[in-house]
Amino acid sequence: MKHNFYAGPAILPKEAIEKSIEALRDFAGMGLSLIEISHRSKEFEAVMTEAQQTVKELLNINDDYEVLFLQGGASTQFLMVPYNFLEKKAAYLDTGAWASKAIKEAKLFGDVEVVASSKDKNYTYIPKNFEVPADADYLHITTNNTIYGTEIREDFDVNVPLVADMSSDFMSRPVDVSKYTLIYAGAQKNVGPAGVTVVIVKKDALGKVSRQIPTMMNYKTHVDKGSMFNTPPVFAVFATLQTLKWLKNNGGVEAIEKVNIEKANMLYDEIDRNKLFKPTVINPEDRSRMNVTFVMNDEYADLDKEFLDFAAKNDIVGIKGHRSVGGFRASIYNALPLESVKHLVNVMKEFEKQH
Ligand SMILES: *Cc1c(COP(=O)(O)O)cnc(C)c1O
Repeated sequence: MKHNFYAGPAILPKEAIEKSIEALRDFAGMGLSLIEISHRSKEFEAVMTEAQQTVKELLNINDDYEVLFLQGGASTQFLMVPYNFLEKKAAYLDTGAWASKAIKEAKLFGDVEVVASSKDKNYTYIPKNFEVPADADYLHITTNNTIYGTEIREDFDVNVPLVADMSSDFMSRPVDVSKYTLIYAGAQKNVGPAGVTVVIVKKDALGKVSRQIPTMMNYKTHVDKGSMFNTPPVFAVFATLQTLKWLKNNGGVEAIEKVNIEKANMLYDEIDRNKLFKPTVINPEDRSRMNVTFVMNDEYADLDKEFLDFAAKNDIVGIKGHRSVGGFRASIYNALPLESVKHLVNVMKEFEKQH
């Protein structure tokens, strides 16, 4: 058995993969594949409706919001958000490379005020106590910084509409959606395969900017057509639904949060204890429960490659850190079993014994 710590595309529940394979062969007893039938068939329409409904159920979302399944990845949301909401000025919290990319796109649409940045320390912490200008059209945050292993888990109150990129911690914990105007998440980190982005948008916040918005870039288009304005990514939506159903059958976000806390604590405890390693994020409050980043302790810096090889020999996949941080990154998303974290911890202990 492989232990899959890839950051994204990432591990999915076995059950979701099996159901998806089944649907590729014979979808809904139609004698046809999921990917060779009309997206307007009642069978696929049922998938889309159930997927939207399941997101709403899992996060307890009321009817003021619409759940969309869009294409173009989270990166397209970097521009759709300002297209639809930035009239004059927007506020952004700069917590990493993805946040910076969102900032770059927003600047094409108006003034951007970066309210705080943790760039001074290579994004190893979450800035606190920043002020948001009252005249900003919205504040954009990145709740989980996939590359640097930091996370904002508090659904905080802010004086302007709140927009969040939740790509890599979406569905990892309960979220008070009512505090947000818009949430988006590329599915391929925690809820599905690549090819679909989940967007949760407050309907009455739309239609307020004065600019013309191209049809496909306009959230309203997709709200009005139930994410079926054009051909949706049928396979990605189906597979995402299977993951969401797996989550629901396993107690939903409340239950998975408990497991995620257990997994993260187990791994951070070992990193803090093991003489060979040190964490890159020091403040426990800022440590991501999804992407755990760590490096070799200074005295053992030359063991980097050796540890990666040792891990690979022990069926551990995908723990090489992002090039901008170095070291290691263990992504421990919802579908990664506790056993895989235990295994990684044992491999770290074993490696310590050898040195
Ligand atoms: C991966 C990631 C993105 C980019 O997602 P794409 O779907 O590849 O565009 C954006 N934000 C965060 C936080 C991510 O982890």
